[in-house]
Amino acid sequence: MTARILVVDDIPANVKLLEARLLAEYFDVLTAQDGFKALEIALATHVDIILLDVMMPGMNGFEVCERLKADQRTAHIPVVMVTALDQPADRVRGLKAGADDFLTKPVNDLQLVSRVKSLVRLKMLGDELRLRAETARTIGMEEPLRLDAMEGPGQVLLVDSRASSQERIVKALKPVAEVTAMSDPQAALFEAAEDPIDMVIINGTGDDYDPLRLCAQLRLLERTRFLPLLLVTDLGDEDAIVRALDLGVNDYIVRPIDPNELVARTLTQIKRKRYNDRLRTNVRQTIELAVTDGLTGLNNRRYLDNQLKVMFTRAAARSRALSLCMIDIDRFKQVNDTYGHDVGDEVLREFARRVRSTVRGADLACRYGGEEFVVVMPDTDAITAAAIAERLRATIENAPFVLERSGLRLSITASLGIATNLQGIETPEQLLKQADRALYAAKTGGRNRVVAAAA
Ligand code: GH3
Ligand code: MG
Ligand code: MG
Repeated sequence: MTARILVVDDIPANVKLLEARLLAEYFDVLTAQDGFKALEIALATHVDIILLDVMMPGMNGFEVCERLKADQRTAHIPVVMVTALDQPADRVRGLKAGADDFLTKPVNDLQLVSRVKSLVRLKMLGDELRLRAETARTIGMEEPLRLDAMEGPGQVLLVDSRASSQERIVKALKPVAEVTAMSDPQAALFEAAEDPIDMVIINGTGDDYDPLRLCAQLRLLERTRFLPLLLVTDLGDEDAIVRALDLGVNDYIVRPIDPNELVARTLTQIKRKRYNDRLRTNVRQTIELAVTDGLTGLNNRRYLDNQLKVMFTRAAARSRALSLCMIDIDRFKQVNDTYGHDVGDEVLREFARRVRSTVRGADLACRYGGEEFVVVMPDTDAITAAAIAERLRATIENAPFVLERSGLRLSITASLGIATNLQGIETPEQLLKQADRALYAAKTGGRNRVVAAAA
């Protein structure tokens, strides 16, 4: 896992030092001696992480960070503030500016490398999601996502076996989050997997349970894999910190907990989590959109073509029956010609609704194109398929289509052709072709009927 790191510091010796350490870990390193140059580089080239000095002439690190975070093009790049100051007030100021992490000068080697690695991991995940979400934006469906947008209070799970510190943490976070405090780590693990939670704060001394074990368990479970974890540690417990970050813990805070720092770190994690959640939803919607027919909400032909292959191969491998029904609305052109295209669309939607309500959950119903539909039925032999198709035909014919928008009641019929594998049909294409032939026979035979392909 390599990445490009931008090191920003006005003192050349500091730049050299960090650069050398990062190069030794095979990171790709860029450098800048002031904030202006840093902003320029971040905009012009791909940068994975920025190590940012705080005290610089011209524009200080806080301001550089604010500008990076205010620009949609650079807001997602993690920023690590490198500071000689180790005052909680400075940390809070940095977090408010949007910093993702801190390193104190003189920089500790182990911490530098483990923090950078952990941030690179997180960023890679975010990049992947953002890339896919971009696709959604190019087809014009989504507003640009904002990292700073946050709706509703955060939901925080606190794992802490001591009542006194539980109380302090709950109180500190009260203005920004609803905190569920639990003392039993196993119960907490269950809670984190079951309930909608934005992050977990783990405060353990190791006397009663192993906090790192809980972190590892949370990272292993599918449902909590992406949940931000904040670990409370003791000053100087570097081994634990390094191991925690290696396990994928997102952040840590050192005892005694400064309430302002806790609030700021918590907010950073929750915002990032919600941003990634929105990206994931976005990606899911894009995928759904790509396989859904916009007019009827049924699956589209692209999806059918892919799924039919899968279903056909699976059925063949297990010697199971698989039937396919192709449906075409009768004299649909007349509907359009008589009442207009919009009424035609309303008919198509109601038709799709009837198809959907007639078939089983395991069946795949899709709009094949125009006024043609296809239903694929796994584990269904020719006789059963004929019965289902007949039921579908009757469902269309027996009740008039009542169209709410236009107030019309129309009598609609459809013709159906069915084909089944295990009858000398060897490919999905042959199955479709046989069903299409049967459909053609239904049309020429007088419409409003079901015809099965000859075995
Ligand atoms: P047949 O009984 O032989 O199937 O006659 P038909 O009129 O249904 O068949 P034809 O293929 O001649 O006409 C299909 C019509 O479906 C023509 C086309 O304009 C219309 N159509 C296709 N897609 C849509 C759509 O999305 N909306 C509407 N309203 N009409 C559509
Ligand atoms: Mg038709
Ligand atoms: Mg047609």
